[in-house]
Amino acid sequence: MSDGKILVTRSSMPPLDEYVDEIAPLWESHWLTNMGAKHRELESALEEYLGVDDLALFVNGHQALECVLEAMDLKGKVITTPYTFASTTHAIVRKGLTPVFADIRPDNYTIDPARVEELIDEDTCAIVPVHVYGNLCDVDALAEIAARHGLKLIYDAAHAFGVRRNGVSAAAYGDASMFSFHATKVFNTIEGGAVCFRDPAFKTKLNRWKNFGIADEETVEYVGGNAKMNEFCAAMGLCNLRHIGEEIARRRRVAERYWERLRDLPGVRVCEPEQGVESNYAYLAVVFEDEFGATRDEVFSRLGENGVCARKYFYPLTNDFACYRGRTGFDPAETPVAAHVASRVLTLPMYADLALEDVDRICDVVASCAR
Ligand SMILES: *Cc1c(COP(=O)(O)O)cnc(C)c1O
Repeated sequence: MSDGKILVTRSSMPPLDEYVDEIAPLWESHWLTNMGAKHRELESALEEYLGVDDLALFVNGHQALECVLEAMDLKGKVITTPYTFASTTHAIVRKGLTPVFADIRPDNYTIDPARVEELIDEDTCAIVPVHVYGNLCDVDALAEIAARHGLKLIYDAAHAFGVRRNGVSAAAYGDASMFSFHATKVFNTIEGGAVCFRDPAFKTKLNRWKNFGIADEETVEYVGGNAKMNEFCAAMGLCNLRHIGEEIARRRRVAERYWERLRDLPGVRVCEPEQGVESNYAYLAVVFEDEFGATRDEVFSRLGENGVCARKYFYPLTNDFACYRGRTGFDPAETPVAAHVASRVLTLPMYADLALEDVDRICDVVASCAR
C-alpha cells in the first residue's frame, strides 16, 4: 500500500466465508426484512456489547435520528451544535423544529454546556449534542441542565460506538442516543443505525414509526415512514461485531503513532482521549493553529500532491451551509470557537488496516509544511 494512494478511510469487512455462512439461512427462510432472525440476533448482540437493556435498529443513522425526534413529539427549538455532519441539523429542520446553535468547547470540540444554558428559553424542547471523533460530550453537565429545565436530551452518538467513560457505555447517556453503522464508521452494517433509549415503552413507538406507523394488521397509529434494517445488513453487523475488539485495538495503534509523531509539532493540536475515556479512535483530527505557519488548506493540498486523501471534517459548519443561507439563527459568527476549529481542522487517514509506515509518511508530509 505504501506507494499507492491513501484514502481517508477504508470500510472494515469480515472474511467473505464468514459472511456467506451468515446469510446462507436466508435462502431457506426467504425472510429478507421486517425484523427477521438476523435483525433480532443483532439487536441482542448489540444490547450486550453496548451494555443497554434495549435498542432499536434502523436502515441508517439519519432516519433513526428523525424517527426519535418524531416519536418524542417535539415542538419548538432544539439546542444543538453546528460542529457536526449535515445529518444532525438536517434532521432537526426536516422535522419542523428550529435549531439553535450553541458554540463548542475548544478542547474536544463538543457542545459547551455553559453556552447551552444561555440559549434556553420557553420555546426550547430538547438538546441534541454530538459526540465528536470518539470524544464524549460533557454528559454530566448536560444531564443536569436537561433535568433542571425539563428538556429531552438526545445524543448524536454516530462517532461514539464502543466508547466508554469510567466503564459506562456512551449508549447509556441522555433520553436517547443515535448510532450510525454506515460503511465508514468504526462498526458498520453497510448502511444502518440504532437508537438506545431510557424509557422501555419507547421501543414499541420507535418500531411503529419506522414501519409506516403500523401497530397491527388493522391499526395504523402514526404517519410513519419506512426505516427498517434488512437481513443482509443485520448479517454484516453480526460478522463485524465479532471482530470489533480487534478493530478498535488496531485503530488505537494507528492513532497512537499519529499522536506520538504530531503532538509536539508547534502549532499542531491533536485530540487525545480525556481521563477515564476509552475511545474508539473513530477519526484522527488535527487542528493547525497560526503558529504552525501553513494553513489547513495548504496542508490538505500538500497531502493530496503526495497521494494522501485527508478530509475537511467538519467543514463547513452546518450553520454556514448554502442551503441555510439567509435563515435567522444560521450565522457562524455566533459560534466563534466552532468557526475557528472548522477553518483549521483536517481528519487524516484512519482505519484498522492502515500501515504504521504509511502513518509515518503522512506525518512527514504534514511536518514538511511547517514554517
Ligand atoms: C455518519 C453520521 C450521521 C449519519 O449517519 P448515517 O448512518 O450515514 O445516516 C449523523 N451524524 C454524524 C455525526 C455522523 O458522523
